[in-house]
Amino acid sequence: MSLPPLPSRSMGYHTTFTGTVTVDPPLSPRQRGWIATLWSPPRYPDGSLALGYPGWSSPWVPTAEGGLHIPDSMDRPRQAPEWLAWIANELHEPIFSRDPEIGGTHTMTGRLRAQGGCEGDKYELRVTSGRISVHRKGLPCWPCWLDVQWLVPPSAAYAFAHPEEHRGARAEFTEEERDRDEPHCRAAAWAPQPRWRRVYWPPRFGDWWAEHVASLDSDP
Ligand SMILES: [Zn+2]
Repeated sequence: MSLPPLPSRSMGYHTTFTGTVTVDPPLSPRQRGWIATLWSPPRYPDGSLALGYPGWSSPWVPTAEGGLHIPDSMDRPRQAPEWLAWIANELHEPIFSRDPEIGGTHTMTGRLRAQGGCEGDKYELRVTSGRISVHRKGLPCWPCWLDVQWLVPPSAAYAFAHPEEHRGARAEFTEEERDRDEPHCRAAAWAPQPRWRRVYWPPRFGDWWAEHVASLDSDP
């Protein structure tokens, strides 16, 4: 049996999200319109990301029922958990939109399954009243995980330690290593540490965040 090719760095990295966040009461047409604008949030005149936004583009799109989902047309993963936390904050108290009509008292509930391009890369995004968390179902093999860390933006969804981390970061892994790791990557995935993380905005990842957030500067 031959396996499909690995994702390569030049190809970007795709993550598929299944599921919906229910918003109660449903988002108004004005709120839905505002959420659509987050596809391209404000920038400073020099093109840099405006302070206080979680990333370059929100993946969340309003559903016809006034909830939120992530359509499977994103060319790469964005900071889905952080954007959701940010949107929840903004609905609670509109600071960035400066539109009082965006505000309201809503309850968000839902469970989304995220499957990354590397087969072991899977997590659940759980939303209960006032609390968002990422539950890691698996990590891909160590070489794939390094690729993922390199390709995806910093997010609680990727702030997990890999059991093979002692192997260190290398530019390339040998065919032998890939052949040994890939079947496990695809069949069972690796167990993350910890198993889940609560999502905060602003984030609280300490050093992990400080190191990785720098990569946002070079991500147009
Ligand atoms: Zn792999």
